[in-house]
Order: sequence, then C-alpha cells, then structure tokens
Amino acid sequence: MPLFKVAIIGAGPAGYFAAQALHNRQNDNRTFAIDMIERLPTPWGLVRSGVAPDHPKIKTVSKVFENIAADPNFRLFANIEIGTEITVAQLQEKYDAVILATGSSLGKQLGIPGENLPGSMSAADFVPWYNAHPDFADVHVDLSCETAVVIGAGNVAMDVARMLALDPIELDPTDTADHAIDTFKKSAVRDVYISARRGPEHAAFTSPELRELPKLEHTNVVINIDDVNAAIVRAGEAPEKDVKSNLDAMLLIAEAEPKNHDRTMRFLFQHTPKEIIGTDRVEAVVYSTPTGDVRIKCGLVITAIGYQAEGINGVAYQNGKVVNTDGRVKENIYVVGWAKRGPSGVIGTNKSDAAAVIELLIEDLGAAKNSGDISDLISDQVVIDQSAWQKINTAEVAAGEVRGKPRIKSVKYSELLDFARS
Ligand code: NAP
Repeated sequence: MPLFKVAIIGAGPAGYFAAQALHNRQNDNRTFAIDMIERLPTPWGLVRSGVAPDHPKIKTVSKVFENIAADPNFRLFANIEIGTEITVAQLQEKYDAVILATGSSLGKQLGIPGENLPGSMSAADFVPWYNAHPDFADVHVDLSCETAVVIGAGNVAMDVARMLALDPIELDPTDTADHAIDTFKKSAVRDVYISARRGPEHAAFTSPELRELPKLEHTNVVINIDDVNAAIVRAGEAPEKDVKSNLDAMLLIAEAEPKNHDRTMRFLFQHTPKEIIGTDRVEAVVYSTPTGDVRIKCGLVITAIGYQAEGINGVAYQNGKVVNTDGRVKENIYVVGWAKRGPSGVIGTNKSDAAAVIELLIEDLGAAKNSGDISDLISDQVVIDQSAWQKINTAEVAAGEVRGKPRIKSVKYSELLDFARS
C-alpha cells in the first residue's frame, strides 16, 4: 500500500487539525506518515501561548492534539526551525506534500504618530509574555500607571483588557507565567479602556466572551447604554444572529446595577485612534469621534488590531498571508490556518479549514516519492520528539500540581531542553 510522507510545519491547532484530516482520509490504498516540525521546543501553538490563562476550558483541545500525536505514523520534530538551516525547498524534495501551518505572529500596526513610544505595545508581545512564551519572557511591561488603553474590538483586545482589569488573585490557579502574575500583583492599573473604532454592532467580540464579563468578581464592567441603544437602531429589525447576540450581551452589561470595585473595564465605541501623545513615554491617546477629538490620559497602550504572518524563506507572502489559492501554494506545498486565511475564527475553525485543504492535497497526489525525510537533513540540532515533549509536559504539570495550577510553563529554552533529556 502506498505510504505518502507529509511534513507539517508548525505544531499549532491548524497543524494538528491538518494531521487529523490526513489520518481520517487513510484507506485500504493509502496511508500517511506525518512529520510535524515546530520551531519551539514545545507544541500546541496558540493553545499554549495565545489562549488566555483564565480560559482553561479552551485549552482542553490539547487532549485532541495528543490523541492525534499518539498515532504510530505521527512524529514530532520540535526545536527545529525551517527556513534557516533546513529549507522549505529541501522538505519539498523529500516529502510528498509539505503543509505550512505557521500562523500569524506579528501584530499589525496602527500607523499613527506616537505608536512607538515607550508604554505603547502590541498584544502580539503582551499575550505571549503573560503566557510564558520563552521568546517573550523579557518583554518589559510597565504597569505603574493607573489607566491603560486597549485598542481593538476583537477577542484578543478583550483578553488583554480582562487580564489587565481583573484582580490578579484570580490568576493564582491558572498557568499564567509567574513573572506576569508578579507584575500584575504590583500593577497600579485600575481603569482599563477598550476602544472600538466602529459601533457596538460592528464589534468583532464573540458573545460568550461578552457574557462572561459580568462574572468578573472584582471588576466593574461599563458599557454606555446610549451606545448600545443607538447600535440596536442602526442594526435594524433583523440583524444577523451574531450581531443580535452581541448586542443582547452588551445591553445586559449596560443595564446591570453599577458595582463598586476599585477596578474598572470601560468600553468606548466610535473612537478612532488618531495619535498617541507623550514626551518620553505614553501620556494619552487622542481619538477622533463623531463629536470631535477626545483625549484619554493613560500610561499604557496595547494595540490588538489583528496579526500578520511572519515570513519563511522561500515562501511568498502578501497582505500578511502566504500567497495561496484555497490552500494550494505551489507544487506539493499547501497552507492551512491563519497563515492561509489570515487571523480569523476560533480554534475549531481550523478543523474544517484544514480538512478542505487536505482534500485538495489528496486530489494532487501522484505516486509516492519515497525519498527520505527530515531526519536526513538534521545535523547537530537537538530534536524534541513526542516522548521528549511528554517529559516536558509531565514535568510542567507536576510542578503545577504542587501549587494548585494546571501546569507551570518553563520560560527558558535551557530548562525545557533539560526536562526533555530527563
Ligand atoms: P479581530 O477579531 O479581527 O479583531 C480586530 C479588531 O481590531 C477589530 O475590532 C478591528 O476593527 C480592529 N482594528 C483593526 N484595525 C484597526 C485600526 N487601525 N484602528 C482601530 N481598530 C482597528 O482580531 P483579534 O482580536 O486579533 O482575534 C483574532 C481571531 O482570534 C479572531 O477570530 C478571534 O475571535 C479569535 N480569538 C478567539 C478567542 C476566543 O474564542 N476566546 C480569543 C482570542 C482570539 P474593525 O472591525 O473596525 O476593522
């Protein structure tokens, strides 16, 4: 029976769902051997370094990933970067198909004056910092100001604003990085604005995220009822289901009895950022609004306005994505997930997305190549395979157990490698 070898670059949700789709499409005439290659010593991508730590349920999808990895035809090659010593072209030669599942890790820029002042940063740096991504452990996060502004009206902006506005004792039972919990505990931030450039009816939040805000135990959540009522009128009599659900959730928040916590998360709508002001660091954001310019004094600005893909040598990118047609890139190269379609959708969206691309890959398959695999290309790099990753995983979970947390993630490459060798 022909055995087709497929390399998947990137061990995030899109990569695992591509592996699962390949597995599901095996039959009596065709099997797939899958090599998943990951730059970091650890897999799971955004499930490890993106999903907010106070949302542990979302992370349970990692069990699905580990089931996929348990297949005898699946191998993990973590701690191996593609595009430097080993190229995409080399993989293309060896494998029957190469799937790019490298995501979008760079934060989009506002392109307004003052954006690069100290105190202004992207969620693309802040989120992996609190999630213990080893490349972001040393990011400088200064929470000495009383007011922070988060720009963007998507779920990343919501995660960032919530992390800044909640009482950090709520993070004790989570896998938030220790360095971040320490910083949050010393934080002077008490007012967090989350600003949307359009009205509530256009917000990109999803309603489950809005509906959980009133459950925050130590934070006032404020939405101006006039903003919601005006949006309801603008949305008309038959708004789309998602819009209606969001507006209902926002109305509930706007109508709720005010609470008297000393931490507040406040929504601003129809506020388009115009300039970030400051001499040596951020002092205020100036917005244009329907009633004129508005200035919000603050010491921290975090932009959460979308992501773009980081390029890999030998692959063409345009508009922050890999150039592709429905996931086909060029001969035997495919792309899935955010690198394919841009940073949209929830984790589960990647399942159907990957399954559709795998159908095209199968359509394109010729005779099995049988010309080796990545192990022929590895010289002195240290590979973290599935069993080494399991040692890291076990060590992190054990360290967490002692402190009542799901895990304690290591932020140092050297420590991760030590666990892997243990
Ligand atoms: P997003 O959902 O696309 O939201 C981006 C936001 O940035 C939009 O509100 C957009 O406003 C705004 N924006 C873009 N350019 C702007 C500018 N120049 N000035 C001001 N605002 C600007 O992106 P995301 O929040 O990064 O999330 C990415 C994906 O991950 C989404 O699909 C999201 O649902 C998902 N995610 C899900 C969860 C979860 O399920 N809990 C958590 C995190 C992320 P306009 O609409 O006006 O352009």
